[in-house]
Amino acid sequence: MRDLIIMARPTRFHIHLDRLIHNFKVAQRLHGGRVLAVIKANAYGHGDVACAEALNSIADGFAVATLEEAIHLRDAGIPGHILLLEGVFEKAEMREAVTHNLTPVIHTPWQIGVLQHTDFATPMPVWLKLDTGMHRLGFQPEELRETYEMLRRIAHVGEITIMTHFANADGADPEAIAEPMRQFHKATQGLAVSTSLCNSGAILGHPAAYGDWARPGLMLYGIDPGVPAIRPRQALQPVMRLTSEISVIRMLAVGDAVGYGGLFKAQRPTRVGIIPCGYADGYPRSAAQGTPVAVAGTLVPLIGRISMDMITVDLTEVPQIQPGAPVELWGDQVAVSTVAQSAGTVAYEVLCHARRAEIQYHAVVRSS
Ligand SMILES: *Cc1c(COP(=O)(O)O)cnc(C)c1O
Repeated sequence: MRDLIIMARPTRFHIHLDRLIHNFKVAQRLHGGRVLAVIKANAYGHGDVACAEALNSIADGFAVATLEEAIHLRDAGIPGHILLLEGVFEKAEMREAVTHNLTPVIHTPWQIGVLQHTDFATPMPVWLKLDTGMHRLGFQPEELRETYEMLRRIAHVGEITIMTHFANADGADPEAIAEPMRQFHKATQGLAVSTSLCNSGAILGHPAAYGDWARPGLMLYGIDPGVPAIRPRQALQPVMRLTSEISVIRMLAVGDAVGYGGLFKAQRPTRVGIIPCGYADGYPRSAAQGTPVAVAGTLVPLIGRISMDMITVDLTEVPQIQPGAPVELWGDQVAVSTVAQSAGTVAYEVLCHARRAEIQYHAVVRSS
């Protein structure tokens, strides 16, 4: 056997599961009732199984987007309630949902037909989706009652929960959800059902929308979905930190350019730090020059283009920084929302793209 010398690339995603638990409890305390942890898209890039295991004893269940995600959790031994947020996409998936004891969202007449023609040993709970203005999925308010009755008549359909999802819950303006709320109340009036309306934005900003079940996603990971300029409305703790080190430092003379396309041109003698982290790790390529990067606790500006495996920062103002200095790309010192905004996107997308760099889990707490 050949000896393998491993030069450890210092780039890491740190996932703080204790903070995930803290944030979940914030959602639970604010909303009350039952809380499903939304862990679709690999728990927004944090690792679905690790997050599910950390929350298992305190969450009332989990929500995912696809059957594959749900089965991945079941195979890892996650018991309990798992909601399929988009229901099933084909007939065979409904049988799989039954086999794995999953709860589908029902949002089309086709899915009701599939339900009618699937065999069940025990009643299956379903969530019925009402469209209150997002206009992606769900039945229209005037269709709801009839649809509900149709589901009621299917012998093997168990408890029915009625849900909706807001298009504009991220701000704090109560007007933004006034019309959807009016439609929800009108459509569900008099029905003896449990309800679920709130994602993170609604949990943080719209107590008037609280129902029986909450569905927090982003806030569990420590991020307020409001624009970065708004101070987090609750003490949320960032769960993911992306860290690295300064690997190389070099001097640019006036007029020298750095990186692809020579996007940055030195106007003064410039001390450039190279960080071995790039868009293949999930750092957004579209992040603008000037995006803050924390180097040994000081914020310095990103310069030049983001490469696949590297980024460059201006260290001219911090001459004491040497190779090996610790770097935080996002987490505690730089909010992921700041990086996202600088890249013209949202924290959701940046988190979902976290990949390649090694993941280190911290404090896998078994809470009760
Ligand atoms: C993703 C999703 C959520 C969670 O949304 P956040 O904004 O991340 O809290 C809740 N409900 C539905 C239907 C979703 O698709």
